[in-house]
Amino acid sequence: MSEWNGKCHRCGSPAAGHIMSMYNLDLICFPCKDAEKKRPDYHQAEAKDLREYADTLRSKGMPVQADTVEEAAELMDYIERVEETQ
Ligand SMILES: [Zn+2]
Repeated sequence: MSEWNGKCHRCGSPAAGHIMSMYNLDLICFPCKDAEKKRPDYHQAEAKDLREYADTLRSKGMPVQADTVEEAAELMDYIERVEETQ
């Protein structure tokens, strides 16, 4: 994984804070994150990310936590469907 060096991996701007992209391992600034959230497939990417996390939890013997994470993934899928019909 690439490390935070004080500059957004996407736009190159110096930033005080950062967050990981939902689409790759880039560490990005908050304006870039906001732009990412506006992508039409953002909730889908979020659901995929959550399901991968649920699999990780299951492999660590944490099935209850995995179920909770999977419920959150279902919610993201639901939001995606609702937004598509609007
Ligand atoms: Zn940025």
